[in-house]
Amino acid sequence: GTEGHEEFDVVVVGGGPGGSTLGTLVAMQGHDVLLLEKETFPRYQIGESLLPSTIHGVCRMTGATDKIIDAGFMLKHGGTFRWGANPEPWTFSFSVSPRTAGPTSTAFQVERSKFDKILLDNAAEKGVQVRQQASVQNVVEEDGRVVGVVYTDASGERHEVRAKWVVDASGNRSGIHKAVGGKREYSDFFRSLALFGYFENGKRMAEPTSGNILCVAFDSGWFWYIPLSDTLTSVGVVVRHDMAEKIQGDPEKALNSLIAECPMIKDFLSDATRVTTGQYGEIRVRKDYSYRQTKFWKPGLVLVGDAACFVDPVFSSGVHLATYGALLAARSINSVLAGTVDQEKAFEEFEARYVREYSVFYEFLMSFYDMHVDEDSYFWSAKKVTQNQYGELESFVDLVAGVSSAEFGLNDAESAALRFKKASAEFAGAVDAMAAEGDSMVPLFKSSVVRQAMQESGQVQGRALLGADLGPDTPMFPGGLVTSDDGMLWQAPAQG
Ligand code: FAD
Repeated sequence: GTEGHEEFDVVVVGGGPGGSTLGTLVAMQGHDVLLLEKETFPRYQIGESLLPSTIHGVCRMTGATDKIIDAGFMLKHGGTFRWGANPEPWTFSFSVSPRTAGPTSTAFQVERSKFDKILLDNAAEKGVQVRQQASVQNVVEEDGRVVGVVYTDASGERHEVRAKWVVDASGNRSGIHKAVGGKREYSDFFRSLALFGYFENGKRMAEPTSGNILCVAFDSGWFWYIPLSDTLTSVGVVVRHDMAEKIQGDPEKALNSLIAECPMIKDFLSDATRVTTGQYGEIRVRKDYSYRQTKFWKPGLVLVGDAACFVDPVFSSGVHLATYGALLAARSINSVLAGTVDQEKAFEEFEARYVREYSVFYEFLMSFYDMHVDEDSYFWSAKKVTQNQYGELESFVDLVAGVSSAEFGLNDAESAALRFKKASAEFAGAVDAMAAEGDSMVPLFKSSVVRQAMQESGQVQGRALLGADLGPDTPMFPGGLVTSDDGMLWQAPAQG
């Protein structure tokens, strides 16, 4: 029974970007939300390089964007890659063309301890009850439905709380996700290990790319080099799973010898010193982080963020998938709590859209790894799947983030909507043109799914900025639901 237990509409497990975003979007609809976080914020997390649709789309909806901008994070215009057959680094930017570049075609490199705290504080401000040092032990089930959770507080005392929906946003290290059933499928293709640390006074690329993420491929794998401030840099290396011995033993030695293998990173760090104190003082290892749960929900329980799936760090998709997944789940929960859409329909829409977004990134990243054509390299030969022409993929990278890049004048909604539609059309045309060009194309382009998914991330941004001015939405799947004008709910498509 529920006697003596606190009751909420929604209990969220985990206060990372997935959990705080979901909690906020549900609380903003007037529902009672409790968020349980086992740590005390600020806390360390990896995943520092973000994409525009998080900052200017989902965070615009939760009201966090201006707080993020005010925090003074490193501005990111795109990425620079020493990757593939081309020995020269090449750069993509978050804009279809310089013509459409504007304030929304940017993202940030963030210190996650600060970024995640901004989102969690914002959640509390929007009405979410946040309890830290509250560690969820298990979910409570009755008659095949999840009806609450048990957690322990700072003093070790156990509490049971009840909710109509429990959201597992507890990241990749907790076991809560198991309650959903199905299983966690690990990717063979992305079975890698990452080793990472922090440096002061590493070099910077020249303007305008100094804030970009730099990714550098070498024989054993690839490095990320993320400028977090004028002097602080996050440096990590990804190696294939069966090269684990390269990072066994003393992590400092391992990192140094991998840096020595990679001339560009070696040069960038030649005057730098590794941070050895505070949250950045450790060298950390992560392994087997690419997986997806075969089911994302069951009655009473929804998975978002790393609890549900994660691909690979190379294209900064983790926080995007967590916050986008949170938005999709929030729409389903809001609609079901409002009584306007039935549970099955609402959560099928959530799962189908989320799986599709994940799959698009998965396929895209497979092609991206495939760009490395050095046959002799141990790391890369195993990653090689098909024969492609790489120039097209480079231009595709330009497009990935670019659909959402048109500059919107917020006090000029009508013409902003028009400009948004133009940018979307330009994007769709460019992808169609690539798809029409013949057999040499990356298989990815053949799929209209890719085009639609990329447009969807633009839609999130457009909806956040323009609301009803964007005009009515169309279903993503036959017979499926559409987004409400404010982006907060699902609804049946308009008749006619
Ligand atoms: P998290 O951020 O992990 O938050 C989960 C929260 O739940 C934590 O605060 C945790 O303390 C809490 N929690 C856990 N268990 C419990 C419990 N039982 N009870 C209560 N609370 C609990 N992503 C990017 O976007 N850009 C990048 O550049 C990037 N680089 C990466 C590099 C590597 C090597 C790896 C492995 C990942 C990278 N990612 C990157 C992915 C990114 O780290 C994650 O996708 C992102 O943090 C997921 O957010 P989340 O909200 O799902 O989970």
